[in-house]
Amino acid sequence: MTGAFCQRLVVALLAASWALPLYAYDPLNRAEYLAKIKEAKAYYEDKCEKVAGIRILKGIESDILGDGSLDYDEKVLERFDFVIASVHSKLSMTEKDATQRLLTAIRNPYTTILGHPTGRLLLSREGYPLDFDAIFDACAKHRVGIEINANPHRLDLDWRYLRTARERGVRLCIGPDAHSVEGLDDVDYGLGIARKGWLQKDDLLNCMDAEELLAWRRTK
Ligand SMILES: [Zn+2]
Repeated sequence: MTGAFCQRLVVALLAASWALPLYAYDPLNRAEYLAKIKEAKAYYEDKCEKVAGIRILKGIESDILGDGSLDYDEKVLERFDFVIASVHSKLSMTEKDATQRLLTAIRNPYTTILGHPTGRLLLSREGYPLDFDAIFDACAKHRVGIEINANPHRLDLDWRYLRTARERGVRLCIGPDAHSVEGLDDVDYGLGIARKGWLQKDDLLNCMDAEELLAWRRTK
């Protein structure tokens, strides 16, 4: 089983200027999950053709494994317009190990966004320690965005780091981490955190249109 806690199949409605996880699916097994990806991709491609004026981008959340590699191979990842790479296991790490793990994931050419970067759960789990200077510099260099996970149990990246991230040239991305339609409303919490961290429109991937985002991503 891979990413059972938080594996998201993400569809972004960027014509509406928001990248929102629209469809969540927790896999029972890898084969079933891959089949579901194929089915969902065909479904949304069909929708793309029928809904004028809206471009739908297809993304996926991929697990960052212990060595920093992603749990899906290139043949899977290349099917998507963007990939959110996140840690969901082996959360007890030293700062050095956690930083190296994330740096490897950031250098992966398929990684578009680093999801819930510290793994914290408010009131129940501390995030793993990170060398944020190294993470921000690597994200800026490799053009990897960092998620502001808007789930109220996460709110990760913490608002206190947002000004430093933007000053280092990092783009942020508000993601509600929705596992249901109702969960999309959590984007409001992310917007509040972005404001609290003094972010501007240009700091957010959500505020790019589809062509801007794809061009930004293609510069890797
Ligand atoms: Zn996740």
